[in-house]
Amino acid sequence: MSLVIDDVVVRHDPVGTPVPVLFDSPHSGTRYPADFNFICPFPLLRQAEDTYVDDLFNMVPDYGATYLCALFPRSYIDANRAPDDIDPAMLEGEWPWPVNPSGKSLAGMGLVRFLCRPGLPMYDGRLPVSVVMDRLENYWRPYHELLADSLDALHRQFGAVYHVNCHSMPSFTIGPDRQTTDFVLGDRDGTSCDPAFTSFIAAHLRGMGYKVRVNDPYKGVELVRRYANPAQGRHSLQLEIDRRLYMNEETLEIHHGFEPLRRDLTRLLVAIRDYALDRTARAAAE
Ligand SMILES: [Zn+2]
Repeated sequence: MSLVIDDVVVRHDPVGTPVPVLFDSPHSGTRYPADFNFICPFPLLRQAEDTYVDDLFNMVPDYGATYLCALFPRSYIDANRAPDDIDPAMLEGEWPWPVNPSGKSLAGMGLVRFLCRPGLPMYDGRLPVSVVMDRLENYWRPYHELLADSLDALHRQFGAVYHVNCHSMPSFTIGPDRQTTDFVLGDRDGTSCDPAFTSFIAAHLRGMGYKVRVNDPYKGVELVRRYANPAQGRHSLQLEIDRRLYMNEETLEIHHGFEPLRRDLTRLLVAIRDYALDRTARAAAE
């Protein structure tokens, strides 16, 4: 069964017995709203998407886990930024609430983007305050409310919940020998989930032959920060996948790596399900 809020978010509910695991994909939406009014080239704008992450994990409900996907593009408003991550200098009019712009906002890439990429403006002029408020209210907020409610329901039922926040990243190399990285796990330096959960996932991925980094260069942002409370059994982890593993980053087309990667992600999902069930059963027995 699915719950859909039109053009905003879809939640695919578990098939069969539910488990205390929720995956979400906040950046794979491709329904560009008619009132977006961007002026940058569409193919460049699309490179902001985590294209196909929703498809890579579409088996999640078949294993008892819950799966949320944003339907709107992250370049319209970014569900993975705090609602006060705004640079008021970029707005037309008076922003009515306190702001707390991060470095991303000051670089034009905050809650609402003003640059398609460095030096290339998204809009013809500043954005009216009312436009940003509308996007917050009608896109950002429903996504967060559905995520929060879904995590709460699983936490109530099981006493704990394991949230995997799924993304893809542009391919990069690191160090003098130009090492690639397949996955970056982010738990905000051990604060958004039990570090044992992070280590478990890193070990599982490495066991399948992948190169994994932790909290470097991505630590996790608003979606793993906002609902995490490991002491209360609320575990949130960010998972970044190198796009070169499954798609052409220029043409945005899937390539031959997609299905093998999806099979490995299914094995990871099964391992996470078993881990979560084992941990919640042990906690209940104590
Ligand atoms: Zn992302």
